[in-house]
Amino acid sequence: MREPPVKKVLYWCPRCNVPLLARTCGCGAEGFAVPLLRPYDARPALKGDRELLKRLFRDQYGTEVLPKVLILNKTGGVDRKDLVIANGERFGWLSFDPVHRKYDLELTFEALPPIIQSATRGVVDLKDLRGAGEDIRDGRRIGGKRYPAGREIPDGGVIIRWNGYAGVGVCTGGMVKVKEVGRVSSREFPDPGWDEVISHNRHHLKNLERNAIRFIRQQTEGHQCVNISFSGGKDSTAALELARRAGFEDAYFIDTGMEFPETLAFVRSLGIRTILRGNNFWREVERRGPPRKDDRWCCERLKLAPVKEWLTGRGECITIQGNRWYESFARAGLPPAARNPYHPSQVNISPLRNWRALEVFLYIWWRDLPCNPLYEKGLERVGCWMCPAMLESEFEQVRTAHPGLYKAWMGFLQEWFRKKGLDADAIATGAWRWKHLPPKMRGPKSG
Ligand code: SF4
Ligand SMILES: [Zn+2]
Repeated sequence: MREPPVKKVLYWCPRCNVPLLARTCGCGAEGFAVPLLRPYDARPALKGDRELLKRLFRDQYGTEVLPKVLILNKTGGVDRKDLVIANGERFGWLSFDPVHRKYDLELTFEALPPIIQSATRGVVDLKDLRGAGEDIRDGRRIGGKRYPAGREIPDGGVIIRWNGYAGVGVCTGGMVKVKEVGRVSSREFPDPGWDEVISHNRHHLKNLERNAIRFIRQQTEGHQCVNISFSGGKDSTAALELARRAGFEDAYFIDTGMEFPETLAFVRSLGIRTILRGNNFWREVERRGPPRKDDRWCCERLKLAPVKEWLTGRGECITIQGNRWYESFARAGLPPAARNPYHPSQVNISPLRNWRALEVFLYIWWRDLPCNPLYEKGLERVGCWMCPAMLESEFEQVRTAHPGLYKAWMGFLQEWFRKKGLDADAIATGAWRWKHLPPKMRGPKSG
C-alpha cells in the first residue's frame, strides 16, 4: 500500500515557543521541525493528561515545572506509550504498565535544561552506580550501559548527576541503564498557553477549514441525500461543523447501547435527532463472547446493521464522516471517498482525512465548539465503554469514572472465561482483548 502524504514532523516557532500546523508562525518566524513517530498523530495534552503528567513529575522527580503546552504523540508499546513534546523538544516517554497497573514518565536528555535546577527526586549520583565511576576514569563510554544500583532505587526513569554533568536513565530491578550524559545548562523558555497557540495558527486553521468545506461541496454536488455520521467524538464534532458550514444538517448517531453516559448527554445537548439503535449487545455477547481486537463482530451488529436499515430505500447517499489517516496504521490508506462495502449505496467522504488530532482540537477550540468531556478526563477515544480497542490505561479510567459499568463488564468476562475454561489471568492484564495474542503481548515463555 502506498503511504499517503502524511506529515511526519511538527513545526515549532522558536520565537513564540508554540507548535505550528505548518511551517510559518503568525508572528512571521519560520518554525523548526520536530520529528514525530508513527502514526504521527500529534495531539494536545488535555486536562486529564496534564494532571497525570504533573503527578508523575512531582512523584518521580520532585518538581512541578511543567510547560502549559504539551504535545503527545502516541506510539507502539505494550499499552499506552506517548512521546511527550515540550518546548519544541522530545521531553519524555509516558507509558502504562498493564501488569503492575502503573504509569511511568521517563525523561529525555533534552528535557533537562528547564528542570535540572528544580528536580529533587529520582536523582541518582553516578557514584551510586557500581562500576560507572571506573568506566569514566578509564575513558570508556557509559551511555547505553547498565550498572547495578548501590542503593535502593524504584523502577522507572531517573535523572543522573555527576561532577557538573547530567543525564537520564531508567532503573529496572535494581539495574540502571544510562541513556545519555552530557553538559546541561539550566534554561528558561516562554510559557504561552493554548490561546496563543490558536492565535499563532489562525491562518493555517482558516486554510484547513476552507479546503475541507470546498471538498465537501465538490463531493456532494448534485446529490439529494447527504448526511453526517456523528459518533460523539472530536473528529465527528469537527466534521459536523464543517458539514454545517457547507450547508448540511442531517446528522445521525448510532447508539450501540454501550455508549458512555457522557457521550449520550453530549449528543442530546447538540440536538442530533436521528438516533439509530444497535442490536442488543448483552444478548449477542452471551452467544458470541466478548468482542476482541481481532474479532470485532460488534461493529457489524451494533453499527453497520442499523445504518443499513435506516438508509434502505433512500437511493444513493453521501455520508460525511470524521475518519482520519493518522488514527491508526489501518486508516493510513483512507481514500477521500469510498463506497461502503456493507451498504454500496452509501459513499463515505472524509474531509478530515489529512488532519491530525492537533488540527482537530485546535479547530474545535478556535470555533469554540462544545466537545465530549471524556477527552478532558484523559480518554483518547470515546467509542463503546468496553471496546476491546481501548488501552488498559483507558480501562483504568472507566474503572474510576464508572465503577458500575466496569464491574458489569468484569463480571461478564469472569463468567465467560469460567464457562469456557479459559485462563482468567487474561482479564486482569487486558489480554482478553485478543483472541490470538500479538507478539508484543506474549510473555517470554510463550515466545
Ligand atoms: S466501538 Fe469497539 S465495542 Fe463498539 S462497536 Fe466498535 S469495535 Fe465494537
Ligand atoms: Zn512565532
